[in-house]
Amino acid sequence: MNAVAIEEGMTSRIKSCVDMFHAAVADGEVDALRTRLRPDTAPDVAVRQADALTTPFAIDRRWRHLSAAEATRGVIGEAAARPAPECFSRNIENYIGQVTLPVGVVGPLRVRGTHACGDFHVPLATTEAALVASCQRGASAITESGGCVAITLSEGVSRSPGFVFGTLVEACEFAAWVAGAEAPLRKAAEATTRHGRLSSLRISVEGTHVWVIFEYTTGDASGQNMVTIATQAACEWIMACTPVRPLRWYVEANLSGDKKASAQSFQSVRGRKVCAEAHLPASVLSHRLQCDARAMEDYWRMSALGSVMSGAIGVQGHYANPLAALYIATGQDAACVSESAVGVTRFESRPDGSLYASVTLPNIMVGTVGGGTGLPTQRACLELLGLAGEGKARALAEVVASLSLAAELSIIAALASGHFTRAHAKLARGPRESVSHE
Ligand code: NAP
Repeated sequence: MNAVAIEEGMTSRIKSCVDMFHAAVADGEVDALRTRLRPDTAPDVAVRQADALTTPFAIDRRWRHLSAAEATRGVIGEAAARPAPECFSRNIENYIGQVTLPVGVVGPLRVRGTHACGDFHVPLATTEAALVASCQRGASAITESGGCVAITLSEGVSRSPGFVFGTLVEACEFAAWVAGAEAPLRKAAEATTRHGRLSSLRISVEGTHVWVIFEYTTGDASGQNMVTIATQAACEWIMACTPVRPLRWYVEANLSGDKKASAQSFQSVRGRKVCAEAHLPASVLSHRLQCDARAMEDYWRMSALGSVMSGAIGVQGHYANPLAALYIATGQDAACVSESAVGVTRFESRPDGSLYASVTLPNIMVGTVGGGTGLPTQRACLELLGLAGEGKARALAEVVASLSLAAELSIIAALASGHFTRAHAKLARGPRESVSHE
């Protein structure tokens, strides 16, 4: 087998870009799913605006709007004690203390998703003034428009170990051998985890270098440790059995897209790929966003071209803003914002004055178990979302995409209408304790 054939022919399972959506409708429940994804155009919740008040009364009022358990408020509320240092023993080395970040809440954000369905209150930890207010504005516009649809299309987390040989022939012989060893590699990898499953195996050859790309589903964990441990076991099996010994090997050789925005983002998935869309009537645009669809499309077009000309991967305004704040609040690996905040935003004005808006994020790296998600305040933030623990990771990814859509709507409206600078100056530089937008 030559190198080209190896690279083209080594997908262990044909993966469709919408395989999870196919799976969701495969059992004949298409009608139920369509109903679930239909806009809910009669909001029965109070759509709120942001304010910057930090008085006990204002904080108490916000908590009363949230249907959170008392215990949740106890953990992240104003009077909460700091978690004991022992909590962090698996999350930090050289511990010396804790930094304090304020947490704001955005909601209700109405999501009609394949996994997330309902009105979500989203905790954001940030020191960037105007970010929560901006997301709140977009969330209110979405909710008042009947919510956004969010669909998880595919999932997978990869590790890409690298093997180095003396000659190209050896590299290709090794690649061909690995291609025929999927079953024992799967067995070795999956023996390390109850939840990780090897979903595909691909090989890439460059001269004397061979990358073996292991892709896994990781249950409700974001999975970086899980796939590392599983791949280490598979590589140890390779080293014990290979007829062609490499000179050197590495458990990760940087083809997985781990913590990097990369050109492969749109050809594959890392974490979960989610699309979210909303149709916003002209009345909501003018009332909530002080803008109109034509102006928003015009701004989006120029900003999309600016993005292309800057060499950015993807076309979007500021996914990193809501993602970083949500990741920190809910115990995700904040560095994974690097790959998660890649995607495409699209805005189109429609003849009736409404706006079609969508976001596509192919690399949402989040989990609802594992990593930092079990820490007391982070767990409480997931509980506030109703997304703590098993069976909730896909729903969290859909909330991430929906929140990104809210943030895009707000920033594009602000820039299109010339309000961007004023909003930041008012919220970041205005008098403390006195700014209210209600
Ligand atoms: P993890 O906490 O290392 O592993 C998840 C744990 O949860 C596993 O023990 C898993 O058991 C268990 N689990 C229980 N119920 C589960 C369910 N429903 N679904 C999935 N797992 C379940 O977390 P991780 O997500 O693998 O790794 C995330 C952490 O890795 C982050 O803190 C990140 O900072 C860090 N990280 C590591 C690397 C690396 O290369 N090592 C790189 C970047 C980041 P089983 O294993 O038995 O399935």
